[in-house]
Amino acid sequence: MNRIPFISGNWKMYKTGSEAVETAKKLVDLCFDVKNVEVMIAPSFLSLPLVAACVQGTHVKIGAQNLYFEKEGAFTGEVSAGMIKTAGAEYVIIGHSERRQYFGETDTSVCRKLRSAINEGLKPIMCIGETETERDQEKTFLILDKQVSDGLKGFGSDELKDLVLAYEPVWAIGTGKTANTKQVNEVHQYLRSLLCKSFSKDFSSRTRILYGGSVKPENVKELMSIKDVDGALVGGASLDPDKFIKIIKYYL
Ligand code: PEP
Repeated sequence: MNRIPFISGNWKMYKTGSEAVETAKKLVDLCFDVKNVEVMIAPSFLSLPLVAACVQGTHVKIGAQNLYFEKEGAFTGEVSAGMIKTAGAEYVIIGHSERRQYFGETDTSVCRKLRSAINEGLKPIMCIGETETERDQEKTFLILDKQVSDGLKGFGSDELKDLVLAYEPVWAIGTGKTANTKQVNEVHQYLRSLLCKSFSKDFSSRTRILYGGSVKPENVKELMSIKDVDGALVGGASLDPDKFIKIIKYYL
């Protein structure tokens, strides 16, 4: 099965509206000859519509970093899937480890958020990954198993046709530490077989599994050449278009 590589950038809580627009414009220019690889950036909610307007009709797609699972209501400070879609996003990141660590996100809320994203026609990027302690205690596969089965509970494979899975070891996010080739390879292989066991071989072979955790131009070749890695979710290095384009261009 041919999976189109996917390089996505999570801008986290960085960049004002004008900085975000300036960065997006530069990225669009740098992407002039990009093909056969999907590119997405996820600005803050405030910048999202501005950035969406400036990348419209280009190779660069837009994602949100989070959503709230209710359609609307008295939920101060929250943003719904429908609002995100209307603002111009195609993708939404769900269950990022920073959301799990600092904002009490659980596998149950991840599951509800996925449902809401899918109902609104947003493509979900579901993040999973173990902490350093969990890895040291040899619980990596157990944790991933739980995150996948609880996060995707109740879904049929047809509903998950646009699902993207992002394996992001928590200890490698924003730390400069990257998982080594052997670690990434065994986890991605494990996830591929888990999707096969839980859904079907066909589903497993068409679902993209990204790696995330301190991906940068210097290590992109080593990480992206691993068999079951279909692209990257990039934090820090996606903030600088000159660095991000080098990651994207691995696939050209
Ligand atoms: C992320 O935010 O998903 C991420 C992987 O960050 P970084 O690339 O900075 O480690």
